[in-house]
Amino acid sequence: MTLTKSILNILHEILPAQRPIGLHEPGFGDAEKALVTDCLESGWVSSVGQYVDRFEQSLSTYTGIPHAIATINGTAALHTCLIVAGVNTGDEVLLPALTFIGSANPVVYSGAVPHFVDCEAETLGINPQRLHDYLTDITEQRGNTCYNRNTGRPVRALIVVHILGHPARIAELAKIAARFQLVLIEDAAESLGSWRDDHHTGSWGQLTALSFNGNKIITCGGGGAILTHDPELARRAKHLTTTAKQSHTWAIGHDAVGYNYRLPNLNAALGCAQMEQLPQRLAQKRQLAKDYANAFATLDNVQFQKEPANCRSNYWLNLLLLPDREQRDQLLHAAHTEGLLLRPFWTPLHQLPVFKNSPHMNLPQTKALFSHGVCLPSSANLRQPDYPINKI
Ligand SMILES: *Cc1c(COP(=O)(O)O)cnc(C)c1O
Repeated sequence: MTLTKSILNILHEILPAQRPIGLHEPGFGDAEKALVTDCLESGWVSSVGQYVDRFEQSLSTYTGIPHAIATINGTAALHTCLIVAGVNTGDEVLLPALTFIGSANPVVYSGAVPHFVDCEAETLGINPQRLHDYLTDITEQRGNTCYNRNTGRPVRALIVVHILGHPARIAELAKIAARFQLVLIEDAAESLGSWRDDHHTGSWGQLTALSFNGNKIITCGGGGAILTHDPELARRAKHLTTTAKQSHTWAIGHDAVGYNYRLPNLNAALGCAQMEQLPQRLAQKRQLAKDYANAFATLDNVQFQKEPANCRSNYWLNLLLLPDREQRDQLLHAAHTEGLLLRPFWTPLHQLPVFKNSPHMNLPQTKALFSHGVCLPSSANLRQPDYPINKI
C-alpha cells in the first residue's frame, strides 16, 4: 500500500464520514445564540458595551495576564503592540519566516522592515541558540539600541509566534531579547489555551496579540486582543485603538491620530459565549490529537507533531510530517479529491515577492518543515458522535 493510501485509511478511521471536512471549523451552541440576541436587543452593538468589558475580563482571568484590550482582529492587535512598543519607521523587527502573513504585515504598517529568522523542529518556534548566534554575529549595541551592522538599521523588537498552538521556547527567547535590548512581543494568535511551565503563552512578552478569527480555537466572527502586564502600555493601547479619543462627558477631542480598532460589542457577545466553551473545546482537541498520535505511531515514515516538553498545547492545528515534498503533495492532492481539506504550511514569508527585500538568516528548518508538513483537520468536535451538530 502507498503511504498516501495508508494515511488516508487512518483519516477515514478517525474522521466522520461527512464531506467536505474543513481544516478548522467554528462551533456554536445555545449560549452563543442567547448572548448575541441579548446584545442585539440591548441596542449596544458597536464599540462600547458591557460584553466588550466582560470579554476582556474573561481573557485576563483565563490567561492570568492582568490587562486585556479587545480589538477588531489579531492583525490590528499586533499593529497596536508594535506602535506602543516604540517600533518606528526604518526599524527592523525579527520574526519567524514560518508563520502566517498576519505576523508580518503589521510590521510593515508600522513602517518597519521584517527580518526573518529560522525555527526549530521540536517547538516549531524560533530556535533560540541560532537566534543568539546570529544576533551576536550581525548586530552591535550602541547605547540602548541594537543595530544590524549589515543594513545600519536599528533592530527594535522580536516577535515570537507560538506556531499551530505549540509554545515556543519563550523563556530562553525572552533572555535573548533582554540581552540584545529588543522589545519582546508574543504573537499568541494560535495559542489561546497553550501553556509552558504553567504559564499561559503571552506571559513573557511586554505585549501579546491574540486572534479570534473564525478559524481560531474560539472566535468572535473576527476579533483580537492585546495582553500586557504593564498598566501604562495597556492604557496607551486602549487609547490608540479608540481613535485616541479624550475622555470627556460631552466634548469630542483626540490627542493623536489613533485607530478605529476596538472590537464591536456584538462580536464580544459571541466571544463571551465562546470563552465558556474553551475548556471543553481544549479537552476535545487534545483528545483528537491523542487519537491522531496513536494512529500515526503505527506508520514508519511519518511523524505526528507532539507538544513540546513541559508544555500543554491547544493543538490548534494537528501537524503530520511526511518523508518528502513529493509525498506531501500526493497526500494533499488525494485528500482534496475526496473533500478532506488538508493544508501545507504557509509559504515561508521570505519567499513572498512582497518581502523580497527583507533580510533573513539561513532558513534550513523553515524550508524542511514547509516541505514535509501537512496540517490535518482539527475542529474540536470531529470526534463527537453528533458532528456537526454545533451549527446553529
Ligand atoms: C490568525 C493569525 C494572525 C492574525 O489574526 P487575524 O485576527 O486574522 O487578523 C496573526 N498571526 C498569526 C500567527 C495568526 O495565526
